[in-house]
Amino acid sequence: MIKNTAQIKQALGNLLDANSIIFAQEEMGAYLDEPRKRFHKKALAIVLPKNVSDVQKIVRFASEHELVLVPQGGNTGLVGGQVPLFANEIIISLSRLNRVRKIDVAAGNIVVEAGMILQQLHESVTKDNMFFPLTIASKGSAQIGGVLATNAGGIHALSYGNARELCLGIEAVMADGSLYNGLKYLKKDNSGYDLKNLLIGSEGTLAIITAANLKLIKQPIENETALVALENVQQAYELFCTIKQIANSKLSAFEIIPRFGIDILLKHKVIEKELIKDNSPYYVLAEISYFERGNNDILMGELEKAYEKEQISDGTIYAQSVAEREELWHLREAMSETQGLEGASIKHDVSVAPQKVPQLIKRGIEAIAKIDKNIRPCPFGHLGDGNIHFNFSQPKGANPEEFLAMSDEIHKAIYDIVIELDGSISAEHGIGQLKTDLLKQVKDPVALNMMQAIKNALDPKHIMNRGKILR
Ligand SMILES: Cc1cc2nc3c(=O)[nH]c(=O)nc-3n(C[C@H](O)[C@H](O)[C@H](O)COP(=O)(O)OP(=O)(O)OC[C@H]3O[C@@H](n4cnc5c(N)ncnc54)[C@H](O)[C@@H]3O)c2cc1C
Repeated sequence: MIKNTAQIKQALGNLLDANSIIFAQEEMGAYLDEPRKRFHKKALAIVLPKNVSDVQKIVRFASEHELVLVPQGGNTGLVGGQVPLFANEIIISLSRLNRVRKIDVAAGNIVVEAGMILQQLHESVTKDNMFFPLTIASKGSAQIGGVLATNAGGIHALSYGNARELCLGIEAVMADGSLYNGLKYLKKDNSGYDLKNLLIGSEGTLAIITAANLKLIKQPIENETALVALENVQQAYELFCTIKQIANSKLSAFEIIPRFGIDILLKHKVIEKELIKDNSPYYVLAEISYFERGNNDILMGELEKAYEKEQISDGTIYAQSVAEREELWHLREAMSETQGLEGASIKHDVSVAPQKVPQLIKRGIEAIAKIDKNIRPCPFGHLGDGNIHFNFSQPKGANPEEFLAMSDEIHKAIYDIVIELDGSISAEHGIGQLKTDLLKQVKDPVALNMMQAIKNALDPKHIMNRGKILR
């Protein structure tokens, strides 16, 4: 076994061609700088396999020499799973495995390699009038492997499910370098454990996903989209229940946005003044997608009724064209980045049962105001799924470092409420290296033991993303 850095580099150089490895630290920036700039470890090397056989070679090499591999997709993860935790780790980027292997429009599925960018997948199926319904604001960089490894959710999970529900099969290189070929899809297959679902959401700690068989659906023929102004979160939840009862699975998004979010979008000129006319405390971005001709104005009808009953304010904007719909979605998708322009923020990706969202937001805001009444709350996100990005921006003009020094206190206040409400401390972003300690504190000990046993069995040398999820 080689341990010396120079020897490792030389052996890697013999294994792969020169343009498949990066050793120079100054060329590693794009792989090491993660979106929230929290983690700053160096890597020993970046390896860029060209095909599955390269991935197997790299994993066998890492296993033989007990070197840690950090699988990386688009590097958009928000919990540091895709960047090193310790020194001397090797990032394995899947970005060059980016082909469509097979598409079957009639059956509604597509086999793509792990490095395909989500947006490219969206674009590649529109010519066939098909649609891959998972969408997230990072779709221009996030890759299918990363989306599956994190079981990403996003704005349409309400209707179509998380990545897990949209994945029919998986191919992955296991920690000993063997290839698990689980790409075939059978509606009925009870021949043992569900390995596909074990690998989905495993954040690169069990295997490296190299390809996936994904579900495609027909494109909706029409979408009804509206930005609705409301007085409070309880009204938003009640509106959700009313519309959901009628639209059922056609209700494809129901996102909440606080006034603070709208204010910063206006301040930083991400949206125009005319788009938002009134000044309500909360807004909901709702969408219903239709796949057949018929009664395709459910949203408009329900919003009219709600307005007559004074359940919503008169600032509602109903998209009249594709361009207007895109404008409304742009507003929602820009929320996270725009918050970054307001100085430091402390963020929580949490979930509770949807009926508890009003309580979560109310109690969370009150608890943080007790710490410092000038902290600016920005709870937004997937109300219909009970998944709120419960973020806080620093007080105006405050010192960012001083604000960030309050992180532990603020986290504790929010996570205590989430746990009391029987929720989850990670709704869709995962655990990565950010929440390992927290997971230990809040997860059922039996579940933690099962997770550790699975890790030890599938990756006995802990070469796959060591220390992520389970420290
Ligand atoms: C602006 C913004 C908005 C976002 N919105 C959402 C959202 O709405 N919903 C949501 O769920 N997430 C969201 N995210 C988080 C992130 O984009 C997703 O988690 C995404 O799925 C990660 O994909 P990636 O290719 O960038 O993975 P990376 O960041 O590269 O990796 C993430 C994790 O997956 C592992 N991994 C990556 N590729 C593989 C592979 N091939 N095999 C095994 N493991 C692998 C990594 O080791 C790491 O643990 C957002 C992020 C940003 C920056």
